[in-house]
Amino acid sequence: MYRHKLFEAICKEEDLTLRDLVKDFVDDEIMPVRQQIDDDDEHEIIHELLQGLANLGFLRAIFPEKYGGSDMRSVVSLVLSLEEVARGDSGIAVALSCCLWPFIPAIWANNEAVLDYFGPMFCGDDLKLGCFNMTDPGGPSGGGGCDIENYHLQGRKINTRAVLDGDKWVLNGQKIWASNSGVADAYCMVCTTDPNLGDEGIALIYVPGDAEGLSFGKFENKAGMAADRNTNTYLETVRVPKEFRLAGPGEDAKYFHANLTVGRIGSAAMSVGNAQGAFEAVLDFTGDRAVGVTTKSIRDHSIAAGMLADMAIGIETARITYLSSAYRFDHPEEYGEIYSLDQLSYGSIAKVYAADMAVSVTNRAMELMGSYGYVRDCNVEKYWRDCKITQLWEGGAQLGRFDVCRSYWDLPL
Ligand SMILES: Cc1cc2nc3c(=O)[nH]c(=O)nc-3n(C[C@H](O)[C@H](O)[C@H](O)COP(=O)(O)OP(=O)(O)OC[C@H]3O[C@@H](n4cnc5c(N)ncnc54)[C@H](O)[C@@H]3O)c2cc1C
Repeated sequence: MYRHKLFEAICKEEDLTLRDLVKDFVDDEIMPVRQQIDDDDEHEIIHELLQGLANLGFLRAIFPEKYGGSDMRSVVSLVLSLEEVARGDSGIAVALSCCLWPFIPAIWANNEAVLDYFGPMFCGDDLKLGCFNMTDPGGPSGGGGCDIENYHLQGRKINTRAVLDGDKWVLNGQKIWASNSGVADAYCMVCTTDPNLGDEGIALIYVPGDAEGLSFGKFENKAGMAADRNTNTYLETVRVPKEFRLAGPGEDAKYFHANLTVGRIGSAAMSVGNAQGAFEAVLDFTGDRAVGVTTKSIRDHSIAAGMLADMAIGIETARITYLSSAYRFDHPEEYGEIYSLDQLSYGSIAKVYAADMAVSVTNRAMELMGSYGYVRDCNVEKYWRDCKITQLWEGGAQLGRFDVCRSYWDLPL
């Protein structure tokens, strides 16, 4: 299932080597404890798992060699491994990927001030958490939520303000929801210098976790994704060096849009991992349990076999779609600039399809297991709770679909 010619044409040997390392870690370390993650209020098990994944080199890989990284630029490689982590636990996958997500733009832009400050820290032996903090609650002019990342609104609804004061950026505003917020060592804050400037005003500014003026609310109490923490972030006159702005007017917007595409492809990969985990569990369950007048296992009844086939079809289709969107992203010379609407649209196809598929697969897995599907011991209801958010975040279901429409025709805003 995992290896066929198209798959091998997209994934290089080194992508598969990293993926296999992560796969072994998931089977040996995450699977035995995945049912304890939701009750790990102190994040002891979660920290150990994230540290274990960091020890594999997963986090430092994307940083340049001079900081101890290995200059890995392949989105295919990144998301392939992310799928594996999500097969074990989606919350771990999102907490882990959000350590990298804020730094991807700094690496593209080669912002040495940011990389010199945070690179050694994130390439060291101790786990460090990152946070890409874009969503804000909206303000007097509306906005917030999906409007922040709406390609066509060009940052006009961002309410968090950045003002240059001498050699420092001064940030004021509020952010909500972001993964690893409240516990991160580094934040990439999506701000505007002036909302009327549109894309020219978008400013991605890096903030150390211990910066003065930064404070947080209480953690959100969610249906799933326990390993990922989310809270309000308050910025009150937070000052950082002016070099901590990503790249400058216009350029920050391009990297912002491109990072959203990476986020959507990553979400698709996580959805596939989540669905794959649920599928493996239900395949075992329905193979072991016999029902009906004969002693046939559940999965040998044609009505169940057809449902299992539909799940496999969804998973395989979503996998090849996210991999092809990652491949396109890795080859802008053939498929267009990484910040183009076409790239965002293709990433959205992968995300919207995979997220809907995962919700459907986990739901059907529970149906096939009857009441056993509903209890924690049987290892499926957690996949169901964890995957729902992937439909709702990063633009929700509707914005992703609009992005797809707009790459085909000029749908009015
Ligand atoms: C667990 C979790 C992790 C998260 N991680 C991060 C993170 O790391 N960083 C971060 O910045 N944010 C993060 N978020 C926030 C998340 O990305 C936003 O909540 C999401 O983008 C949607 O914003 P909203 O919830 O305010 O919905 P709204 O913007 O209020 O949207 C509500 C509904 O309207 C639809 N909609 C949006 N725009 C339009 C339109 N133009 N026309 C018609 N319908 C539209 C949406 O699709 C959705 O269905 C996270 C949220 C959660 C719960």
